[in-house]
Amino acid sequence: MKNILVQVEALKKYFPVKRGLLYKIAGWIKAVDQVNLEMEKGKTLGLVGESGCGKTTLARTMLRLIEPDSGEIYFREQPITRISPQALRNLRQDMQIVFQDPFNSLDPRFTVSRTISEGLQVFQSLSKSKLADQVRELLAVVGLPDDAINRYPHEFSGGQRQRIGIARAISLKPSFLVLDEPVSSLDVSVQAQIINLLYELQERFALTYLFITHDLNIIRQVSDEVAVMYLGKIVEQAVNADLFNRPQHPYTKILLEATPIAHPKERKPRAILKGEVTSAMHLPSGCRFRTRCPSAMDICSRQEPALKEIAPNHRAACHLL
Ligand code: SF4
Repeated sequence: MKNILVQVEALKKYFPVKRGLLYKIAGWIKAVDQVNLEMEKGKTLGLVGESGCGKTTLARTMLRLIEPDSGEIYFREQPITRISPQALRNLRQDMQIVFQDPFNSLDPRFTVSRTISEGLQVFQSLSKSKLADQVRELLAVVGLPDDAINRYPHEFSGGQRQRIGIARAISLKPSFLVLDEPVSSLDVSVQAQIINLLYELQERFALTYLFITHDLNIIRQVSDEVAVMYLGKIVEQAVNADLFNRPQHPYTKILLEATPIAHPKERKPRAILKGEVTSAMHLPSGCRFRTRCPSAMDICSRQEPALKEIAPNHRAACHLL
């Protein structure tokens, strides 16, 4: 039986679009629309999709950094969608985030020590020397030298800054980490180092990761399970090997065919995903992917396909299936 750490049910987050002199609501961006997800303890769920499909909003809503409009979030089987501010504050220790951009996510005015110890100062009353010991220990865990403690973010490379961001995220010993495009802005060689560090930390601290990226090669490398998102909806979810070897949803198939392959002998003509992502404010009727789908049928404009189990541990939302 699966040991589920985080679960969301019918999670919904719409953003109003206001226009005109009176700032009237002209429509809604359906960033997260009735999403169901389960995350197994100690595993990595890769969340993939094009820019603007709602990945980051979904993750931030799961962390309650953004308030959901409706639906339920469970953490360790406890509903956390409507808990008190105090309970939410305590929960923050257990759910943390590593941001995409290591250049903008660190305050340039703060030393590494202050950046990493902020959470510790809020949640644990430690003496100055104990705090410094903890920061040094965290620096060692993420592979930074002792003397980094009193330096400022601009003195570090992109990869080192991301290590600082990771040290900050694990300072309170969380069990759930959202990794929001954590390596997208780094060079390929540095990406590999950061990914290896994340593996080590997961192993050492039994961390559960929600790994967000638009890069399928990275998702393939890091994930135990993969969820594919399109315009606010999960359209396919499966264990890693199933999704990459037997993709079922037309969107997943095209995304995989469009992914560059490094090895020359394995290269095939690349598929092209036609058209831009439809605006999340003006969604087509029925299936949201129908305006770009090569297999669209009549029913696709009339009825929205439900996400359903098509094989053990493999779900997809398409009328073809
Ligand atoms: Fe394509 Fe129809 Fe399936 Fe949507 S439901 S992905 S339009 S075949």
